[in-house]
Amino acid sequence: MLHRIGDLILENADRLALLDCLDNGKPLRVARAGDVPAAAAVFHYMAGWPGRLNGENASIYTGSPERHLALTVPEPVGVVAAIIPWNFPLYMAAAKVAPALAAGCTVVLKPAEQTPLSALALAQLAQEAGLPPGVLNVLTGDAATGAALAAHPGVDKVTFTGSTEVGRSIVRGAAVDFRRVTLELGGKSPNIVFGDADLRQAIDGAAHAIFYNQGETCVAGSRLYVQRQVFDEVVAGIRERAAAIRIGDGLDRDTEMGPLISAEHRTRVLSYLDSARADGARVTGGQVPDSPGFFCTPAVVTDADPQAPVVREEVFGPVLVAQPFDTVQEAVALANDSPYGLAAGVFTRDLGLAHQVGRRLRAGTVWINSWHVLDPALPFGGMRGSGWGREMGKAGVDAFLETKTLINDLGNRSW
Ligand code: NAD
Repeated sequence: MLHRIGDLILENADRLALLDCLDNGKPLRVARAGDVPAAAAVFHYMAGWPGRLNGENASIYTGSPERHLALTVPEPVGVVAAIIPWNFPLYMAAAKVAPALAAGCTVVLKPAEQTPLSALALAQLAQEAGLPPGVLNVLTGDAATGAALAAHPGVDKVTFTGSTEVGRSIVRGAAVDFRRVTLELGGKSPNIVFGDADLRQAIDGAAHAIFYNQGETCVAGSRLYVQRQVFDEVVAGIRERAAAIRIGDGLDRDTEMGPLISAEHRTRVLSYLDSARADGARVTGGQVPDSPGFFCTPAVVTDADPQAPVVREEVFGPVLVAQPFDTVQEAVALANDSPYGLAAGVFTRDLGLAHQVGRRLRAGTVWINSWHVLDPALPFGGMRGSGWGREMGKAGVDAFLETKTLINDLGNRSW
């Protein structure tokens, strides 16, 4: 059935991409080329797990191996509440639902109030694939609905993607009966560009890292650290790239960047830029075009106070903060100086340096000479304030399993 759902997502790709475009504002061709095939891939990959979730023939330490037969059995954790944000509506739904179903759980999925349509369409496709009634349920609603679902005594596990603040409230609620929790939260991901990097690749990579999906990505490369000798060239290149990004209606085929999710969110994004300007930082972009829609042009900030909110906090918009560094140690220290730990990037031609720096960065994912490469086989998640646990890969299925140990006394015979 998981395979069939993946197939149906691809068969309905145009319609699903259109729903996410209309709901979220993201460019149709980005949804069609990115979100939809990625959602299908999660179902196809996870379809391989149910037949491979084996327990162990466990050895016993204090008893006798002849007398005691011990087994471990993986069991579904039970009823899963999956609460997701609005930035990748269909993909986020797939990322929660597919591994939970692969583990044998049932799911109540609560999409974000801004973007419920593709989750409802996914439920229809699951029905069409033959999933029995009640196995996947979609509950639309706002924050209060999410809070009520997360706190429901019938829920065994909450898997949540969203803001750090809401993640904290879910953990508090889960403490009442020790409900299982997985959290994928915010980020302020650092991107380090060394002087020896292929600068064209680094400029394109850094721009893609922050501006993809309007900067509304949890893994956005929002803090850029560039070795001093190439700082001006890299920042000028990104500013040029930012100015060339075509902003507009998501339905228009030429559009590269859509509007932000809401007027309220845009006001919040702009307030970070206003405060940076007031503190004496240099800001390019961050303009509001004279047209309807919650548009904001991509912004690049330099000379910001390292303690300023635009440097420390997640903006969740197309806002890059750039700062020079001199030594490797300084770059690592700057990168790790954050309460978050979701993703990081390193651009250099020296792969040894990239791996050694990568090992020192406190982030769940480190991209080398790349960004935004995700795969259903690769664990994804954050350290520190970016969350608990991992999605995708085997770790992503294990997150929906409990391990049971069965011990059988075979009797104490002597022949
Ligand atoms: P949000 O936390 O406000 O909302 C996310 C979801 O939680 C929505 O469905 C919402 O209705 C629900 N919700 C809100 N309050 C709730 C409560 N008290 N109890 C239960 N559910 C509640 O986040 P947002 O503004 O919609 O999304 C942006 C945030 O999501 C950013 O911080 C971003 O970094 C994060 N995010 C993280 C990842 C990741 O994988 N780590 C991916 C995408 C987005």
